[in-house]
Amino acid sequence: MSGPVQPADLSPADDVPAGIEVREGRRATVGGLGIVRVLPTKGRRTVGAWCFVDCMLPSDAEHPDPMEVGPHPHIGLSTATWLFAGEAVHGDSLGTEQLLRPGQLNLMTAGRGIAHAELELGRGLNGIQLWIAQPEATRHGPNAFAHHADLPEADLATGRATVFMGSLLGATSPARQDTPLVGAELALSAGTAALPIDPAFEHAVVPIGAAVTVDDVLVEPGWLGYVPPGRSEVRIAARDAGARVMLLGGEPFERVQMWWNFVARTQAELTEAYRDWQAHDTDRFAPVPSALPRIDAPRPPWLPAS
Ligand code: MN
Repeated sequence: MSGPVQPADLSPADDVPAGIEVREGRRATVGGLGIVRVLPTKGRRTVGAWCFVDCMLPSDAEHPDPMEVGPHPHIGLSTATWLFAGEAVHGDSLGTEQLLRPGQLNLMTAGRGIAHAELELGRGLNGIQLWIAQPEATRHGPNAFAHHADLPEADLATGRATVFMGSLLGATSPARQDTPLVGAELALSAGTAALPIDPAFEHAVVPIGAAVTVDDVLVEPGWLGYVPPGRSEVRIAARDAGARVMLLGGEPFERVQMWWNFVARTQAELTEAYRDWQAHDTDRFAPVPSALPRIDAPRPPWLPAS
């Protein structure tokens, strides 16, 4: 449920639309699991510092096996894993082994480098995998892991928000943030909720399972509804009870370079991380407590064939 980024996902530039902008996600398979990649997508690379959004799909005939993602590296980003159903175990090169359940946040920060593995327990996993690009101040720094089992909730007109990052509706998450962000799951009944948002932020609305409208613009599951900065309120309407929506936002972020499981600023940094992982550099990427096979990096397309 974590990467990698494909060249097809990346666009040359992000523009800022006047109103709500809708983009369709792209179906792919990660670690045996079907996913829809909502970000990055053609025309949009980041929303705030959120730089990667994968929505898991329920297992089906095409994807009958449980998710198993062996040890692989990250640099320059935090992974935020958020489940709607099922259970997963996270293991990383800090020695962490952590069970994750719905409504809890696993937040792993790579800094200069970390490696981890993810394994579905039982069946029926459903959730979302998010990456947050780190700013210059922390992206070369130490790695970290935090598990947040108790997250604040807030009421809105047609439902409830669970705030796992930043603040919304007066509720504030205890989770670390390296840049100004918000991240929340909205559980909605039928009707329209007017949600106060930070006008300094741009936002992504990602419906899970059922379509919603965002200021009267239809956004289907697996689509990205982009709300540009400058808005102090957004109206989200659900047709039926039981709608679930992810709201992600932040201050527009500097331009990043992404390749495979790495977020950096230059191609040289990506090449160095690729070489360190392939060379089993345990100063940068310590061993992961996992029985799953290690995942080798593909050769970066900008390097000459060896
Ligand atoms: Mn990962």
